[in-house]
Amino acid sequence: MFDVVVIGGGPGGYVAAIKGAQMGGKIALVEGDALGGTCLNIGCIPTKALVHCAMTYLDAKRGSEFGVEAKDVTLNMEAVMAHKRNTVQQLVSGVEKLLEGNGVTVYKGWARIPAPGKVEVSLEDGSTETLEAKNIVIATGSKHFTLPFLQGHAVTSDDLLELDYVPGRLCIIGGGVIGIEFACIFSAFGSEVTVIELLPSILPNTDQEIARRLALLLRRRGIKIHTNTQVTEVRREGEIEVVLAKAKDGSEVRFEADLVLSAVGRVPNFGGIDLDALGVEYDKKGIKVDGRMATNVPGIWAIGDVVGRTQLAHGASAEGITAMKNIFGIPKIMDYSAIPACVFSIPECASVGYTEQEAKRQGLQVTVSKFPFGANGKALSMGATDGLVKVLADSATGKVVGMHVLGAHADDLVHLGSMAVQLGLGADRLQELIYAHPTLSEAVLEAFYGLGDGPIHLLSRR
Ligand code: FAD
Repeated sequence: MFDVVVIGGGPGGYVAAIKGAQMGGKIALVEGDALGGTCLNIGCIPTKALVHCAMTYLDAKRGSEFGVEAKDVTLNMEAVMAHKRNTVQQLVSGVEKLLEGNGVTVYKGWARIPAPGKVEVSLEDGSTETLEAKNIVIATGSKHFTLPFLQGHAVTSDDLLELDYVPGRLCIIGGGVIGIEFACIFSAFGSEVTVIELLPSILPNTDQEIARRLALLLRRRGIKIHTNTQVTEVRREGEIEVVLAKAKDGSEVRFEADLVLSAVGRVPNFGGIDLDALGVEYDKKGIKVDGRMATNVPGIWAIGDVVGRTQLAHGASAEGITAMKNIFGIPKIMDYSAIPACVFSIPECASVGYTEQEAKRQGLQVTVSKFPFGANGKALSMGATDGLVKVLADSATGKVVGMHVLGAHADDLVHLGSMAVQLGLGADRLQELIYAHPTLSEAVLEAFYGLGDGPIHLLSRR
């Protein structure tokens, strides 16, 4: 009898399993495909390996700005894909060792739940094994959503991650995080990239000022972005795919592409588990859970993309830890208020807490402070002056409620904002911090200063 059987070995499931084992539980993890799930195999990690290749290529081409003369800089897609594969393989085998080292029993096979307390696994050798479990954690992740007329005409992000050539013209349907990341990767590799987005802005959930500024930077690098544009049909004409769309004014627009990427979102993957038979409540966003990550059926818990709350790897992991704590008697409610979200565009953007629009929607009066990377010494020395740090504080209490960064290393800088939001710090406390010089982090400190007396290295308008 296991204390917990976790179904799914992504960043939700494997982190939960390790946490449960650390807490002294007897844990099993069942994974039908590769350990590490979407994140390690076809999501976060391989895309970031490609983003790194793209940035290295761009940097190599602009080396002469910094006195580094590199002649005939070329891209070797075979080597790019080998870097991606090696990165993934190392991490997947690392996860395998971590699970083993923590005493988690791993079953390689597809699981179903015939009844609460039982998990039936169809093992790789064709046999079936039934596990007894005091608790079951469903961590089966998500899958691609697609529009019917894209079938047979558009590839998914999984396919792009295996591409061994650079398409001449790449048309990306969907200007969300995945669409924008691939737009940056393949534009850097040399594709002519067009992004088509139904909504008025790319990255609709991002602070709109940041999204607008990023769109400008991407357009400057040659990426074509069409917002307020609805794709209605994709058809093959000879060797090319023709994408037909309706613009905001009702006119029809035609795009020609050598390859079309469908990046229109992801939906929960219930992993073939018969939730209706079990009586587990769910809707199209995912399995319904309370703040402890418990479903309505005692002993059955759910975490990660299958509950659809964050669609982020670290969100899935945090939910997994929350579930395990509750299972092992430490009450914990999942806190979503300070979960950072990064877009690995070139340059990156990252955010935590309220956007300016969300604050307005909630009726929260905010004070906004911004500091541009153009006024930061480290950014200037790196030739990375595009972007800014934007901080939002509750006007009534002075506490930081959101931070948004556009620019180099935004993915690391955002955690200074996470701390401020999570710990409820205000300008008074934050201005006491001393950051090392010269660093990009100083741009964050200057933005914090802007909530009080004003930044030091920028003339404020007061
Ligand atoms: P998953 O990682 O999807 O894992 C679920 C696992 O369950 C899978 O391995 C699956 O095989 C297994 N499974 C399903 N059903 C069964 C069953 N019945 N029996 C056994 N096993 C089963 N997030 C970020 O935070 N940062 C990023 O940079 C980022 N980039 C991304 C880029 C792309 C292209 C994509 C597609 C996603 C990206 N994400 C990113 C999102 C991130 O990958 C997911 O949020 C995360 O993987 C969710 O973790 P999970 O554990 O819930 O599910």
